[in-house]
Amino acid sequence: MDYKTLDEFKEGSGYLIEDVWYPRVTSIVSIKAKPALYRYYAGLKNFEEGEKIKQQSADEGTLVHEAVQAVMRGEEPELTEVTKPAVEAYMKFLENNSVEVDANYIERRIINHDERYSGTCDAVAIIGGKMGILDIKTSQAIYRDYCLQTSAYVEPLRHELKDLSTRWILRVDQSQSCRKCGATRRTKGGKEKIRTPWNNPYAKFCVHEWSETKGEIELKEFTDFDEDYRAFLGAKALWEWEHIDWLKQIGYK
Ligand SMILES: [Zn+2]
Repeated sequence: MDYKTLDEFKEGSGYLIEDVWYPRVTSIVSIKAKPALYRYYAGLKNFEEGEKIKQQSADEGTLVHEAVQAVMRGEEPELTEVTKPAVEAYMKFLENNSVEVDANYIERRIINHDERYSGTCDAVAIIGGKMGILDIKTSQAIYRDYCLQTSAYVEPLRHELKDLSTRWILRVDQSQSCRKCGATRRTKGGKEKIRTPWNNPYAKFCVHEWSETKGEIELKEFTDFDEDYRAFLGAKALWEWEHIDWLKQIGYK
């Protein structure tokens, strides 16, 4: 991301909290290269198409994200075509799993004064007797990159919440499946992605018959906190190096 002015940089990559500027966790972790993203762009008509799909997909993701957080707050959000399958899947998930969310920590601003960074965590929950950060993703898989972001939230918060010991990704997604061959279809940002099952060679030739859209929930715990947090601080050092000119102007470095 290129910034033209100092204000743009401060606004786009950090938070101003009581007159002190802190870099944002999501901006810091974006320094890590994502090879899968290059492959994705390479498969599109042009860069603009990718940006358009990404934006629409992010908007849809935000709606699902907000609706799930509303359920966590004990509210009954109004559901739309975009949010209904995912939210219903989350409610079903709650029937079969013990998830206690602390409403005080939904969208909570987190500050690490020692390392000087800030972020916003989605939620804090108690699952299976353990307390941890719960981060909601609407991606089609749980990527290892999420370890960095969530470890950055755990570090300052575990001094405030003595029982906080872990973190989870709650992946909330929705897809259709083919009644004939078992292929799945996801529509994100107006672009559809079809995956055929590897063990069905005829799926490629199938004239798919799609089911209604169904929500999908996946919960995954990350356990290597020390390693992840060390890697986050490494990413932060690289991020600072990349933006050193802006940071000097702010008086950060
Ligand atoms: Zn099919």
